[in-house]
Amino acid sequence: AAKREGRSIIKVFEPVMLYSRQLRSQMATELRGAISADELVLHYQPVVELATNRILGVEVLVRWQHPLRGLIPPDTFIPLAEEIGVIHDLDRWVMSASLRQLARWREDFDLDPDFQLRVNLSAVELKQLDLVDHIRTLLRELHLPARNLVVEITETAIVTRGEVEMYSLLSLQQLGVGIEIDDFGTGYSSISYLRELPVSMVKVDRSLLVGLNTRAGQLEFVAAILQLIRAAGLEAVFEGIETREQADQLRAMGCASGQGYYFSRPLPADETGTLLATTHYLRIGEGVEGAGST
Ligand code: C2E
Ligand code: MG
Ligand code: MG
Ligand code: MG
Repeated sequence: AAKREGRSIIKVFEPVMLYSRQLRSQMATELRGAISADELVLHYQPVVELATNRILGVEVLVRWQHPLRGLIPPDTFIPLAEEIGVIHDLDRWVMSASLRQLARWREDFDLDPDFQLRVNLSAVELKQLDLVDHIRTLLRELHLPARNLVVEITETAIVTRGEVEMYSLLSLQQLGVGIEIDDFGTGYSSISYLRELPVSMVKVDRSLLVGLNTRAGQLEFVAAILQLIRAAGLEAVFEGIETREQADQLRAMGCASGQGYYFSRPLPADETGTLLATTHYLRIGEGVEGAGST
């Protein structure tokens, strides 16, 4: 019975279910303690060059290893963390823990000098005046070149173009950190607006790949978006590539890079290390999509 109960509890943790006030407040309390209790874990999803399957870098994706409820996905607790003010500590913890991990990998393995660690930053974090100093200090302490770091920011985070947000972006760019707009195509930013920002990459949201090979006009639509991004002088990355057909289509369009379950699921640190230790190229279908990963 306990097992059955456990299962049903996990099911409760869909983002929509957090409308329950009791559950929200209980999770909020637990989330406040999660960082100090060492319950957050980082998984890493390879980003590859589509033409060669070369590993260009990894995206850092946080999970909450809850002592009773198992591995909780970020879509469930990141919005809550933003709401209750925990996101600041959470994002700083992710930045510091993942940069430390990168420093170890760089010591242990023969990483590409342009290897990119891609870290997601909340809109809230971009408003912190000391964000750039924090990152600069970490990079210096860990002897990491700034070009090894890319921050991913959702377009909604900068659509208001606040003064502090612009200051953060410009200072990060000055520092040499890569800046990418995440989930492009789901918010309201126009491409002409993106041209005005200190941004070098655009990650196209995975929803645009749905029906790529089946829905009438979808292929042309995605190709047009790719052209627009290029014409704006930006680099396009596609997320959510799940099938070989999608990878082939994007490659044929001339898209340079992407990530998705087809290449690899997000992997725990040890499996990521194994991958980076053994190869610069991803071998598709040779066990990298481990069952235990998320
Ligand atoms: P995101 O930055 O857009 O990350 C991509 C999401 O797509 C990840 O979900 C990843 O596991 C998932 N994904 C990757 N490949 C595929 C695929 O082929 N098909 C499908 N259907 N999904 C795929 P995840 O890990 O659940 O993260 C969800 C979101 O949570 C992220 O979206 C990001 O916005 C946020 N997030 C994750 N880690 C952090 C963090 O450390 N800080 C902040 N502020 N947000 C984070
Ligand atoms: Mg991202
Ligand atoms: Mg994304
Ligand atoms: Mg997303």
